[in-house]
Amino acid sequence: MILKLHAKHVGKYKKNYPLLFKEALIGAHLLEANPPKEGQLLKLVDEHNHYIATAYYGLQNKGIGWVLSRDEKEKINPLFFKKKIYIAFEKRLGLYNNPKTNCFRVFNGEGDGIGGLSIDFLNGYYLINWYSEGIYHFRDEILDAIKTSAEFDGIYEKLRFDAESPSEDGFVMGTPAPTPLLVKENDVTFAIRFDEGAMVGIFLDQRDVRRQLKYKYSKGKTVLNTFAYTGAFSVFAALGGAKQVFSVDLANRTTERVTENFNLNKIDPEKHPVIIDDVFNYFNFAKKKDLKYDVVILDPPSFAKSKDFTFSAEKDYPALLAEAIRVTSEGGVIVASNNSSTIDLEKFKQIIGRGFNLAKARFQILEIYQLPKDFRTHSHYPESEYLKVVFIRLEPKKRHYSAQNAPRR
Ligand code: SAH
Repeated sequence: MILKLHAKHVGKYKKNYPLLFKEALIGAHLLEANPPKEGQLLKLVDEHNHYIATAYYGLQNKGIGWVLSRDEKEKINPLFFKKKIYIAFEKRLGLYNNPKTNCFRVFNGEGDGIGGLSIDFLNGYYLINWYSEGIYHFRDEILDAIKTSAEFDGIYEKLRFDAESPSEDGFVMGTPAPTPLLVKENDVTFAIRFDEGAMVGIFLDQRDVRRQLKYKYSKGKTVLNTFAYTGAFSVFAALGGAKQVFSVDLANRTTERVTENFNLNKIDPEKHPVIIDDVFNYFNFAKKKDLKYDVVILDPPSFAKSKDFTFSAEKDYPALLAEAIRVTSEGGVIVASNNSSTIDLEKFKQIIGRGFNLAKARFQILEIYQLPKDFRTHSHYPESEYLKVVFIRLEPKKRHYSAQNAPRR
């Protein structure tokens, strides 16, 4: 199918922009009545019918497909996928056989030349995430490419679009993984489960943040890990010598998951409480009791619904941060994380500023983390740099001395 690009968007695609979005197309409304099939190849041309790029059609929360090639002669065939996968795996060769870390990303969507697809290596197993029916259409080619590029114990998949996986736990081939499957990150062990929805137990993109938390920010501190999930940050903080780590999450599975990860790393779970609660509720409780923590970790989902509240990072982050500030000790550190691709680092810094304004507090940014190297980004698509983690110090309040309590000489 041939699709024409609006003159004002042609330059963008000529400069390698990978995401195909509806507004870039002439006659996009016609497309709605008669859309391409998921996985269909699209030839993008300018107004004079000159070739610009080849894309595939695949509806995602963002965009309607991804550019695969800017060479008209390049065929999108099994060899195309083999090349992309082989090159991506080659780039990560140095990460295999590391006795300390055996989980990392080997294919990162548009950063590796195929948007809508990610592949992680988890201690012998590959986990494929398909983000649209369109990319899933190329499943056979991509599986074949993995088989010829790598050795593995097994392959699992997750369908991140509206469809059921052919197998219940996403098992594709090889030997089924034990449940849980244990992985190692910087010598810390985590339990992975393939059969629990979209998430498997650890977010690999926070690897560098966890290490820094352990080495630089935990010793002797009280740590509050909000949106704790399986307690990945909690485990690193405890191993870094935290006095006590509190893990808060509203999901009931949290106690079991955090305890499991503590046990795997010989941390006494009795010492570090897990609290099943809405984070906002917990902040209220802590405020009432005048509880303060030296380190507060804020890693909310971009969008989440709880019983009586919808959280959207864009809209609610300043208020969330303000709450966190109120339970942070003076001079303490807040680790503020955001993974929304529509908020860039500059915007996130403004959001942080708004949060501190709301709490009438002063801050200093200590350091900033973005994606680790295995999460390759696309230089002409800034949204691919979605992760922003800012270590912020809560500055002590300025003291105003009145004549009476001024220090005596
Ligand atoms: N920080 C975690 C990942 C968080 S995933 C890590 O590094 O591994 C998001 C988590 O937020 C989920 O476990 C979900 O249950 C929890 N969550 C979502 N909304 C919440 C809320 N309002 N209060 C508490 N937890 C919430």
